[in-house]
Amino acid sequence: MIAVLKQGVSQAQLDHLKDWLSSRGLDVHISNGQYQTVIGLIGDTSRVDIDLLQGLDIVESVTRIIEPFKSANRKFHPDDTIIEVPGATIGGGHFALIAGPCSVESAEQITAVAQAVKASGASILRGGAFKPRTSPYDFQGLGVDGLELLAHAKESTGLPIITEIMNLSQLPYFENVDIIQVGARNMQNFDLLKELGHTGKPVLLKRGLANTMKELLMSAEYIMSGGNEQVILCERGIRTFETYTRNTLDLSAVPMLKELSHLPVVVDPSHATGLARLVEPMALAAVAAGADGLMIEVHNDPAHALCDGPQSLTPEQFDRVAGKVFKLREVLA
Ligand code: PEP
Ligand code: MN
Repeated sequence: MIAVLKQGVSQAQLDHLKDWLSSRGLDVHISNGQYQTVIGLIGDTSRVDIDLLQGLDIVESVTRIIEPFKSANRKFHPDDTIIEVPGATIGGGHFALIAGPCSVESAEQITAVAQAVKASGASILRGGAFKPRTSPYDFQGLGVDGLELLAHAKESTGLPIITEIMNLSQLPYFENVDIIQVGARNMQNFDLLKELGHTGKPVLLKRGLANTMKELLMSAEYIMSGGNEQVILCERGIRTFETYTRNTLDLSAVPMLKELSHLPVVVDPSHATGLARLVEPMALAAVAAGADGLMIEVHNDPAHALCDGPQSLTPEQFDRVAGKVFKLREVLA
């Protein structure tokens, strides 16, 4: 349920109403927007007399939220959520270009790629250390050593870092990580999501291979209901009957998710297509669709990459794509 307040409500009146609603056993969220203050109520709202609430002279309107996602709902929080990490801002008109290799492979590789993508305008460095591979015989990532190399690249470039967590036991190693990535395969690992709800770090949540937008938003809700409201949604393609591309990039998810939710939406054209030559057109299309950021895989030697070489751009290719992305954003501004 949400209650929209009238303009000019004092802090004392707001606090008083908040205390009263909390005393009914409800979770009370206040969203102080640019134009209006919205009180979001989660819990057993039958404990509140809706007519009484509606009748208060500081209340403009009261509406029940029918969608099962509450905290992630645009109705709860009409303004865009803006997520900040040292060196980058995402959402509310702020755009983040996230780039780096699929996997951290060596100090030389991650440092070279980090410096190159930074020079091209990337504001966040990606690199997998714990890798969810389809085959147990494939490279599984450097694990904790990979995280250390990534942290070193962060130190030398000043770029914040994002990397994937695969299970709860890895969380203690993520102290130096700026944004925790939950991969497509873990989108519905509810225990992991619940635990990430208790961390103070932003979480980039990827859409599962066969998950609906509603399911993605419900997974975001798992994180948010634990108290962590810093969630970034990521469209990375879904599985369809098409086989020429690795996945099918559902770009309609960008405006749809942004309509349904206030959370920033980022697009990953690398995993969505699986083909380096399709990354540029899909990156530009994602920007045109209103994405708040892009996540692009870049490798200094894609032909010898230990993971996802065919979809990885060289630093030179990335530089061209980044240049076009920034130009397109200027045109759209
Ligand atoms: C990744 O970003 O490295 C990754 C494994 O992506 P996804 O979870 O989207 O497959
Ligand atoms: Mn990859």
